Amino acid sequence: MPKVPKWMADAMESLFSGSYHPVTVTEVNYLEAELKHVRFEGDFSASKRKFRPGNVIEFRINETEFRHYTPSLFDHGRGVCDVLFYLHGMGPGSDWAATLKKGDGLKLLGPGGKLKFDINANDHFVFGDETSLGLMQSMYRAAEAQDTTCECLVELDSNHIAWTDLVDIPIHPVAKSPKGKAVTALPEVDCFLQRSDRHKTAFYLTGNAKSIQVIRKHLVNSGITASQIQSDPYWVEGKTGL
Ligand SMILES: Cc1cc2nc3c(=O)[nH]c(=O)nc-3n(C[C@H](O)[C@H](O)[C@H](O)COP(=O)(O)OP(=O)(O)OC[C@H]3O[C@@H](n4cnc5c(N)ncnc54)[C@H](O)[C@@H]3O)c2cc1C
Repeated sequence: MPKVPKWMADAMESLFSGSYHPVTVTEVNYLEAELKHVRFEGDFSASKRKFRPGNVIEFRINETEFRHYTPSLFDHGRGVCDVLFYLHGMGPGSDWAATLKKGDGLKLLGPGGKLKFDINANDHFVFGDETSLGLMQSMYRAAEAQDTTCECLVELDSNHIAWTDLVDIPIHPVAKSPKGKAVTALPEVDCFLQRSDRHKTAFYLTGNAKSIQVIRKHLVNSGITASQIQSDPYWVEGKTGL
């Protein structure tokens, strides 16, 4: 629901007021000029759903538009939610995130969404791009807490390759290739499949919708069952706000 008429956005806010949690921006850190960590604090006790890593939140970014983001940390009890924003400068969501500053008051919607950490899997494999770094942090920590493994593979613009050093978990980077979506990622996926117990692994595919399609097809052709794969496209060229 990226864009709705203003009257509808207003009506939703009052009709579903229990799902909108007032929050304040309490911390802002630029890990890089285009990678911004923001901490939101508020009272999440009224939240209907308990956060599972992989779940998403939503913000109304202007009078008519909403955008989704994936917390790198969501602590109901302490009322803390961290998000890593990729400021790509290509749309209103990115422009809105660029303006966030300490002391801002907003309404956080959620958590919700379809993708979630699989507590029954022995191993976890997360694929994504610049927009998935926060997701990877939360998945990795969930796996660590369960004493299971989590491998993260990220495809980045070549000038962003060093970004994996900016987050506090191991992430394997590959540079996006002009030859096509996920071209550089596929050999890394194969390496993972060879060294892991592929049938006991949960796969989470996020980021660019076309890259997800390529990786998903490759996994299925490699014998991974559809039930092992969760995917959540975060963006696609030429489309506004997924
Ligand atoms: C479920 C979900 C979870 C998400 N979690 C996160 C998150 O944790 N952190 C985060 O930063 N983003 C996340 N995103 C993506 C984020 O919502 C988009 O970046 C946001 O929609 C950007 O909105 P926008 O208005 O700037 O651009 P949009 O309106 O979405 O897109 C406008 C145009 O900008 C271009 N564009 C959009 N995104 C990118 C990109 N990443 N790289 C290059 N060009 C792009 C495309 O050409 C697109 O047509 C998530 C999205 C979804 C659906």
